[in-house]
Amino acid sequence: MRIHYLNCGTDCPLGGPLFDGISKGPLARLSCAAQLIETDQGLVLIDTGYGVQDVRHPHPRLSRTMDALLNIRFRIEETAIHQVKALGFSADDVRHIVLTHLDFDHAGGIEDLPRARVHVMERERDAAEHRRRGFVARRRYRPVQWDDVRDWRTYASGGEPWFGFDAVRELEGLPPEILLVPLPGHTWGHAGIAVQNGEGWVLNAGDAYFYRGEMDVANPRCTPGLRAYQKLMEVDRESRLRNQDRLRDLKREQGGAVTIFCSHDAVELAGMQVSATNTG
Ligand SMILES: [Zn+2]
Repeated sequence: MRIHYLNCGTDCPLGGPLFDGISKGPLARLSCAAQLIETDQGLVLIDTGYGVQDVRHPHPRLSRTMDALLNIRFRIEETAIHQVKALGFSADDVRHIVLTHLDFDHAGGIEDLPRARVHVMERERDAAEHRRRGFVARRRYRPVQWDDVRDWRTYASGGEPWFGFDAVRELEGLPPEILLVPLPGHTWGHAGIAVQNGEGWVLNAGDAYFYRGEMDVANPRCTPGLRAYQKLMEVDRESRLRNQDRLRDLKREQGGAVTIFCSHDAVELAGMQVSATNTG
């Protein structure tokens, strides 16, 4: 299965290196990672970043508070549909969307791909639909981004283990090489998505962590800006931090077999893009 690594959104919060650890100026650069996978069952998109409607009419579709905090750069050329077409495919070729969670910066492109079946943890859909209470919950979940979806597939936690993690296998209509790996904490139904390619496993950890230094097994660390943002957005700190521990253990013990990356670290995403080009 060929995997394309896409950046489907850019956030430039004020704080520069205090967020991304690398910027020279006052603005940071955070990515919104997505993967487009060519399978025998058609194209599968993992996460969708911001979509065409987010770019054209960001408000009130998205929260002004979140936009101000993140300083979102709305770029049509970064939308998944634009990149799908640039690769020579059409919107209808995308048959499945698998989501780490339903936050506004992951779910924005769903309705640009109307033929896709949408897969997500049941707990996440439930939280986004029925538990939008509180300052953050109302601003993170934006039902207008997915209220036209008719073909949802939702999954309960539990299942056959994958390197010691629970894993949901056999997503309906998808090849067995794509798994949901529940990693709650950032949201109630947050999950990583594991994909087996020719060389081994790649785990898209979504928002289970935000900064590459958090996966440094010897000296885990995070920038102050991303530490604060993760605290603002978390629903369950204990689970979130425990899952970060488990991901570091996974990297320590299975680093040869499993490559881990997250949604918003642009340096990590660039590394994935380079290695995909070299092997693909
Ligand atoms: Zn996110």
